[in-house]
Amino acid sequence: MIGLEIHGYLATKEKLFCRCNINHDKENKEQIKPNTNICPICTGQPGSKPLIPNSEAIKKCIQTALMLNTKVNTSDNTDEKSKNNKKLVWQRKHYSWPDLPKGYQNTLSGTYAIPIAENGKFLGIRIRELHLEEDPAAWDPVTGCIDYNRSGSPLIEIVTEPDFTTAEEVSNWLKQLILTLSYIKAISKEAGIKADVNVNIHKISERTEIKNVNSISEIVNAINYELKRHEKEKPKHKETRRWNAEKQKTEQMREKEGAADYRFISDPDLPVIKINNRLVNEINTKLPESPKEKLEKLIKKHKIGQKDAEVLTNNLELVEFFEEVSKKINPSFALSWITTELLRVLNYNKITLDQVFISTEHFTELLQAVKDKKLTELKAKQILNTFIPKSHSIKSKLSSNQRITDKSEIKKLCEQAIKNNKKATDDFKAGEKKAFDFLLGEIMKISNRRADYQIAKEELIKLLK
Ligand SMILES: [Zn+2]
Repeated sequence: MIGLEIHGYLATKEKLFCRCNINHDKENKEQIKPNTNICPICTGQPGSKPLIPNSEAIKKCIQTALMLNTKVNTSDNTDEKSKNNKKLVWQRKHYSWPDLPKGYQNTLSGTYAIPIAENGKFLGIRIRELHLEEDPAAWDPVTGCIDYNRSGSPLIEIVTEPDFTTAEEVSNWLKQLILTLSYIKAISKEAGIKADVNVNIHKISERTEIKNVNSISEIVNAINYELKRHEKEKPKHKETRRWNAEKQKTEQMREKEGAADYRFISDPDLPVIKINNRLVNEINTKLPESPKEKLEKLIKKHKIGQKDAEVLTNNLELVEFFEEVSKKINPSFALSWITTELLRVLNYNKITLDQVFISTEHFTELLQAVKDKKLTELKAKQILNTFIPKSHSIKSKLSSNQRITDKSEIKKLCEQAIKNNKKATDDFKAGEKKAFDFLLGEIMKISNRRADYQIAKEELIKLLK
């Protein structure tokens, strides 16, 4: 039995209880100096008080809750019998650690807390609860230095029931979860996710909690290691362990602190949160399509095959790009240009669509020129390469790149290719079929990829005969 407590950074501009900026961008980490996005609130200065909680963070929690089919705990349900009439009280979760300047963490979880949402199901796995809390600072135990840049960032915690049975199942589910949450831009992709993983074997071993595992691949490794250990050692006591990624093994940690050790009390400085039904309904009606809904739409509306539809829906930017281009050009024509050619260029440059500026207008212009037979496919592919990092209009360059269809002109190109490549010509005559493709390639090269492929093929055959 495997259960997860997943922590993700909510993709908000500001921290939870102050107006400091958030920047999780891993790439730029070196450029962001420690302790630059800080203020008296998120460094826990004596006398400082939190501001009203960031409404963007609460909204993103509600969006996530709805995407995961959980029930949001609203405060204005007048139905007496309904349990769904709840006020959310911020808790102070106390513990003493260098990364926690106030001595407590503000959270909507804990013994006396009511979570933002509960009782859901996502892709067959039950969701127990969904919380919001603030992140502590980052402490480096080697140097003793503390960086408060992330202190006070809003974290969402998603707790599942122990419904998973294999590491592979966990990995697939997590990928779908991250994809789904990326559709509502709820969690910061740059910051990634962390998870605490609970593992036990039913009727054989007691539960082990593995703390703070940092990526999906490490989560898989940690689960597989721990399942083997449980089979062998059959642990009889609950235990908290840490994952040592370097040694690829779990190690014993302190005995698990019970909830009582944290001395939860409600925070007098923070207002009780009341989420009303109207807000939930409003967010629900504006909720974007889920990856599953998008996939079904692509297959039904645009008649796209399952595999291509999956390639598109696995990336929100890509599928939105496709939908935009499809408004102006035949979707089945646009499809391979996006799933094959555009992805080829992006992969070659080791970059993703959201990191470049390719306008759908420029892209459509290029495809239209191919469709109208103004450009050869080869030429268009070459132009597409120049769309990184920023696309441009091809209109002014169309005439100089125009497809050559004039037979006599192409014949001259063929003659030149034959003349320049005596060996290939002889090889072809000796029965070497590959030499023909080589000569065709040469024609494309000397015509600067402008010669019409079909005509070039016909003329070359004639000449070689
Ligand atoms: Zn601050």
